[in-house]
Amino acid sequence: MESIYNLSEDDFKLYLNNLGEKPFRAKQIMEWVYRHKIQSFDEMTNVKKSFIEQLKNDFSLDLLEVVTHQVSSDGTQKFLFRLHDGNLIESVLMNNEYGYSICVTTQVGCNMGCVFCASGMKKKLRNLETAEIVMQLLTVEKVTGIKITHIVIMGIGEPFDNYDNVTRFMKIVNYPLGLEIGARHITVSTSGLIPKIREFADFDLQVNLAISLHAPNNDIRNNIMAVNKSYPIEDLIDAIKYYIDKTNRRVTIEYILLKDINDSRANANELADLLHGLNVYVNLIPYNEVIEKPYKRSTKESMQAFFDQLKKRRINVQLRREQGGDIDAACGQLRSKQMKKEESI
Ligand code: SAH
Ligand code: SF4
Repeated sequence: MESIYNLSEDDFKLYLNNLGEKPFRAKQIMEWVYRHKIQSFDEMTNVKKSFIEQLKNDFSLDLLEVVTHQVSSDGTQKFLFRLHDGNLIESVLMNNEYGYSICVTTQVGCNMGCVFCASGMKKKLRNLETAEIVMQLLTVEKVTGIKITHIVIMGIGEPFDNYDNVTRFMKIVNYPLGLEIGARHITVSTSGLIPKIREFADFDLQVNLAISLHAPNNDIRNNIMAVNKSYPIEDLIDAIKYYIDKTNRRVTIEYILLKDINDSRANANELADLLHGLNVYVNLIPYNEVIEKPYKRSTKESMQAFFDQLKKRRINVQLRREQGGDIDAACGQLRSKQMKKEESI
């Protein structure tokens, strides 16, 4: 049976149209499902019985199965879920000064093959359905009783390789009579799929865009991010410019500092040259080391020097604090541990 969480208001309107029902019922359904968070369609008191029966026939209200739920000493919570086909995905809930944010997964595995990333060690098996992304949020809210106010689409997977489901997810969580998560409270991160970055410039909602750059030139980027071979850095910068011109919004540039790979003062200067004059904000990320990978986190001194150099060059920059280090909040690590456990059974 189809999950109710696959449908946006527009999708419900189409569904209603096919049934010969009035379009305003789309609003009613969205409100019951996401504002009142019903667990049974019978709770819809202002809706006629026959329509409730129809909904019961057509849709499931089930949430995800929780496999593990870990709480870190800093308050970060990590969830591992099992999907209906047995695949495992994860979400991370973070407690920030401004509220609770969830990091959601968009694919089972990832095909982009970034060499430093644990998620990419498992090839993509499939895209997540819209509902499977929505249910990560709903299940975490239900288990913890916490109201989530911010979303980062930075879990396992490349969101722009699952563009339609991810953008539908954004519309559903943003819906004003439902979860009502402001577009500016949603951030999507891409490894740099240029055609989709351009398409996203025309997306209705003012969602934040983050780009995983991680290198100041093609030589380094080709070595660590295979996507750069299809979409080289100068074309990526052009796409970012296009997006900024079209939307008037600032873009976040993510840059993981990898010891002796991309963290020299010369690299900082190169990065400053590349980003000069662009309305961007650079997020320097301490690398979460992955056991199976040879890459190391930059030293505190190198990170500070890199940060200082960008500052000196008048680039907007921050050094991100870490969260959840003691519970493997790094992408993909929990999932791969559980899979190993299950494989060995
Ligand atoms: N696939 C998308 C979104 C998910 S990854 C993307 O790559 O942008 C979210 C962010 O975490 C990306 O910037 C990614 O490069 C980064 N990341 C991946 N592995 C990491 C690790 N071990 N330590 C720190 N950041 C990591
Ligand atoms: Fe995929 Fe992002 Fe990991 Fe690269 S960093 S392998 S795109 S999840």
